[in-house]
Amino acid sequence: MPELPEVETVRRGLEPRVLNKTIQAITVHYLPMIRPLSLDVFKARLIGKTIAAMRRRGKYLVFDLSDIILLVHLRMEGKFYLGDETTPKMTHEHIRYTFTDGSVLIYHDVRKFGTHTIKEVDALETTHPFINLGYEPSDIRLTATYLKNKLKTDRKIKTVLLDQSIILGLGNIYVDEVLFCAKIRPTTRAKRVSLKKCRSIIACSQKVISKAIQLGGSSIRSYTDSLGISGLFQNELNVHMREGELCYTCQTPIKKIKVNGRGTYYCSKCQQY
Ligand SMILES: [Zn+2]
Repeated sequence: MPELPEVETVRRGLEPRVLNKTIQAITVHYLPMIRPLSLDVFKARLIGKTIAAMRRRGKYLVFDLSDIILLVHLRMEGKFYLGDETTPKMTHEHIRYTFTDGSVLIYHDVRKFGTHTIKEVDALETTHPFINLGYEPSDIRLTATYLKNKLKTDRKIKTVLLDQSIILGLGNIYVDEVLFCAKIRPTTRAKRVSLKKCRSIIACSQKVISKAIQLGGSSIRSYTDSLGISGLFQNELNVHMREGELCYTCQTPIKKIKVNGRGTYYCSKCQQY
């Protein structure tokens, strides 16, 4: 599943190519993907609208269309492709947005779990799931004191860091890497993590996520970004998916365990806290 850096990579690749384009026509081949479910309503609200900006909130791509927004969640395998009117229908193409300049934006999704949802402009502040989202690593409101307050729980630190209502955008791969960077064992009880370690977690989250965005995310599994570019971040992973391989810092074999059912990788020597 694409994580925040991969979605941000998609946004950065797509935005300059769709900005200021006006939707002229929409073809939907798989109706359960759109919200509202009525194709007539979906079309009526979007056709004639111009893409004024493209943002991201968590793992949602946000197309700003002046008075409404279109939220796209890629889920497991969603991808965008750009083409023109002559581009033939692709095998897993489910939605095609045709613009007035003749270009097309194709939504491709092998698993069909993605969603395209029309919302009011203030939805990012007022509706589920956005109201419960925490701060992204780059957000200045994410402070050590804020984090320390959120860690007053018996839950394991990894479980808490995966909770998107606390820090937004750390998925399974990135939490493993952040905890390696902060030298904290994934199974440590959250309430035992000190303020100083909270500072490390935040600094490491920023470092790991910005590096991942810079490299276009990870291409673990079949994920590639909208323009077919594979991310390179998987080459930078210190622990994730490296079970039995030697730690780059201390040469100890990396261990794999399960934390709340998620495959979790760590170095037993470097991460003793
Ligand atoms: Zn180590």
